[in-house]
Formats: sequence, C-alpha cells, structure tokens
Amino acid sequence: MNGLMMDEPLLLTHLVRRAARLFWEKRILSRTQFGVTEYTYADLYRRACQLGHVLERLGIKAGERVGTFAWNTFRHLELYFGVPASGRVLHTLNIRLFPEQIAYIVNHAEDAIIFVDYALIPQLEKLAPELRSVRAYVAMGDGPLPETSLKPAYAYEDLLREAPTSDPFPALDEQTAAAMCYTSGTTGNPKGVVYSHRALVLHTFAQCMADAFGLRESDVIMPVVPMFHANAWGLPYGATMIGATQVYPGVQPTPEDICQLIETHRVTVTAGVPTVLLGILAALEKRPYDLSSLRCVPCGGSAVPESLLERFDALGITVVQAWGMTETSPLASVSHPLSVMADWPEERKRKVRAKQGRPLPFVEMRIVAEDGREQPWDGKSVGELEVRGPWIVGSYYRDERSAASFDRGWFKTGDIGTIDEYGYLQITDRAKDVIKSGGEWISSVELENTIMAHPKVAEAAVIGLPHERWQERPLACVVLRPGETLTKEELLAFLEPRVAKWWLPDDVVFLDALPKTSVGKVAKRELRENFRNYRWPAK
Ligand code: AMP
Repeated sequence: MNGLMMDEPLLLTHLVRRAARLFWEKRILSRTQFGVTEYTYADLYRRACQLGHVLERLGIKAGERVGTFAWNTFRHLELYFGVPASGRVLHTLNIRLFPEQIAYIVNHAEDAIIFVDYALIPQLEKLAPELRSVRAYVAMGDGPLPETSLKPAYAYEDLLREAPTSDPFPALDEQTAAAMCYTSGTTGNPKGVVYSHRALVLHTFAQCMADAFGLRESDVIMPVVPMFHANAWGLPYGATMIGATQVYPGVQPTPEDICQLIETHRVTVTAGVPTVLLGILAALEKRPYDLSSLRCVPCGGSAVPESLLERFDALGITVVQAWGMTETSPLASVSHPLSVMADWPEERKRKVRAKQGRPLPFVEMRIVAEDGREQPWDGKSVGELEVRGPWIVGSYYRDERSAASFDRGWFKTGDIGTIDEYGYLQITDRAKDVIKSGGEWISSVELENTIMAHPKVAEAAVIGLPHERWQERPLACVVLRPGETLTKEELLAFLEPRVAKWWLPDDVVFLDALPKTSVGKVAKRELRENFRNYRWPAK
C-alpha cells in the first residue's frame, strides 16, 4: 500500500518564499566599503525573483551553470536562491585557487555566465580569455559599473532595477541540480560535486536540529566560511529557513572586522575553520571585543585542537566541532557530549568535543580496513572512513576518476580514523598525510593537537618525511605565539609524557607562518615540498 500524503518536492524555493511570508521584516545586514547595508527578507525574496527574470532575459537556460566569483554579501545570498529556484545551477567559484584551476573549473562546468564582485573584476579579467563557455558577466557592487575588459558586462543593480518583481520560479523536480562546487583539489584537477534541491533541503533540516547547531529564529547568524566553500557550510540556507537575522562580512574581512561585527550586531552563531578562530583569538589579544553574544561557533574543515576549545571555553563561548567535505554538502557529523556524560569533568567532555562527532540522521558511516573489512566501533580500530546518505555525493560531475571514490555504494572519504562505541568519529589523518613509521601509523592530527596544547604555541603541523631506517618520521613545524621563545628540547620534553615515545618528532622547526590552502587549511603538501631537501639531524 502506498502512503496517502501529498507529493510535494523539497525545493530551496520554499525556503525563500516562506521567509518572505513569515519573516518579512527580519533583517539581513551586509558589510560594504561604506559601512553596513541592511534590508529585509521581503527585499531578499523580491530581488531573488528579479534575478530569476534577469537570467531569463540574458538567455540562460534551465540547467545551465551560473558562476559566482564573490565574497559573502547580500547579493551572493540572492544568487544562492534566485539561481536554483529559477531552475539554473549555482556554481560558486573559489576565488583563492590558482588561475589555471579556476579556468579549468569554469570550462569543465561550462558556466554560461559569471556574477562577479566589483572588487574581484581585475582578478577575473586576467582569466577571461581562457573561459570558453562564458557568454556574459554581471558585476555586483555599489555605484556605477567600473571600467572593465570583461565583455559583455552588465551592472547587477541596473539589471535588477529593470526586472519585474513577480515570482518567476517554476515547479521543479526535487532531484533537479541546484548548486555545484569543486573540491579544493590538492592533487590533480578539482572534482565537481552537484547538489540537488532535495539534498540541500534535507541538509538544512539536519543542520538546524538542536543536536546539530540548533539554529532558531532568535539567532543572529554570520556566515564567515566563504560562500564559495561548500555552500558556506549551508548556513545561508539554514538561517533563511528559520528566519534568523543574518550578517554578511563582505569583501576580505579581517579578524578585527569579524570581531567588530559580532560585537556590534550581537551575533549568536558564526562558523569558521580553526585558522579563522585562531585569528579571532589573536585579535582579542590586541584589544578586547565583546563577543558574549556568541552561543554556538561551529568549527571544522580541519581538526579542532582541544586547546582551541579550551581557550574559547574560558571566554564562555562554545565551539562545536563538525566534520564534513564538499562531497557531503558538507555537514555529516557534529560533536556534542551526550547526557550520559553530563557528570564527566570538563576536560573529559572536551576530549569528546575534540572528536569529529556523531553522524547526523540519514548519514551512515563506517571504517574500512585496508583489506576491505569493516572495522568495529571501538575507538581503536583504524581505517578509511566511508559514508553514505541523501546529501552525500553519488558521483563526481563528468569525471573519470569517480569510480575510484566509491566502494559498494559508499563514498570513500580519503580520511583515516576510528569510531568509538558511542558513535563518535575521530579523524587521525588524511590518507595522504599519514606518517608511516616502521610499518605503523602515527597520527599527525593527534601530534599537532598535543603540540598546540603548549601555551607558547600558536599553530603546528606535523609532516612525515622519508627516513632511511623507519621509512618515514615526523617533523614538527611550529609557529610560536607573538613574543614567545621555545626550544626544540623544551617542546619535546612537553610532549614526552603525552604521546607514545616512538611518536616523538625527530626534529622540530620553528617557522613564522604555515602555508595555507585556498580555504584556510594548512597546506601539508606545500609544506612537504618546502622540506624536500631536508636532512634529519645526526643522533
Ligand atoms: P573540503 O572539501 O575542502 O571541505 O575538505 C574536506 C576535508 O577536510 C575532509 O576530508 C577532512 O580531511 C577535513 N576535515 C573537515 N572537517 C574536519 C574536522 N572536523 N576534523 C578533521 N578534518 C576535517
């Protein structure tokens, strides 16, 4: 027997229509070069509708890809809704990739049009001659269209001003492609991931759950994760669904800008990679900001050191670790201690929060050993993490490499880790970053976290370098906090009681900064490359 419910598709369109109807007077703020602009959900909906008409007028067909080359602004939010709701595919381009990679991505996705921030026009102009499929550019900003070699180029505000405000959004199948994003690709060309409306709607629900980020109408949400990185972790969709006040940090925000926005607008939820949160802590060391409004700060993208959780705890701010990938929309697990742990001491609970968390509903996880066997959930047995679920990638976009990433219907993440008896995932490494010493694996993530627990250390990365006897040994690359001094011997003495003896790094180098990827993670491959000619000290 079939159910007797209505067959209503899960579409992003609903989120923006609903917000306009229920939260019409709630505000969306966006930092600009002149201060902060603000408007309401009613304006967002009206302008997203106008955008739908503009795309029609410019001859962009249903299913065609609409590129964005932009920072986190209210206009980018309009694209987040106007493009998918009108049946086109939002393709957020990572502005921090190398020019050749961006050109590859635009050509591979066959973007028909690109919406670009005024501030990013010079960067895009250099690439434009390589872009084969792009038929038009739309420039977004305040004031008149700047002089540009992009052709044909239109001013976003001019186009919108002339467009009707009626709702142009068609009925769509929920499996229709809504958005796409390419992985930040450390080796080879980036791979494309295409999200359906259904996947993003379900992801939005999961994100808002109380045991995820618990987003609600009374929140003031500031998406700091770039909107070109895995849908800004879905926060623009979550915030709109529940009608929260939203704050967009605009062009190239500094940690000081972020702190200022939190203080001024009483932001309650903001999210970022550990590097961004470390930036906030560094800004706080220079001058105080009132960040007491923050109630939940999701953090992920790379392992969140326990020391980072502790420093924010001391400020009364709860950092919540989440794990995910571009391929998983991105949220797949979130780490909150359980009620059975309520009586545990804070340090023990913090160790739980330093894990990558328990899978969200509908996300399934398993750990698979090198021989293909599924590992028990005992917190010890290590293997590759595989996931499946309704918002997990089923195949890369037109990519021959797809097959290698799937194992009997599960997506192979390339992350190595364990799952414990409570279901908490713990990532010990990316497969390509594990350090193999004498046939055993050393977890670079765990070593890094332990080093970062030293009060004089700002950041640390541990890489494996070739070793004659042991195959590979760990080298610790350490950045000290401003004005601090520390010797290799002092650091090793700090580590000795905290990690297995054979895990102790064979050498420690002190650096001014660690190289970062386009989305703010430590660029381990670049670091290994920098130490290509390194020689271990004689023992
Ligand atoms: P991206 O697709 O750029 O978001 O990168 C996804 C990768 O980031 C994952 O495969 C992990 O290696 C890493 N990652 C994301 N979240 C975490 C986390 N909480 N802890 C450790 N690694 C993470």
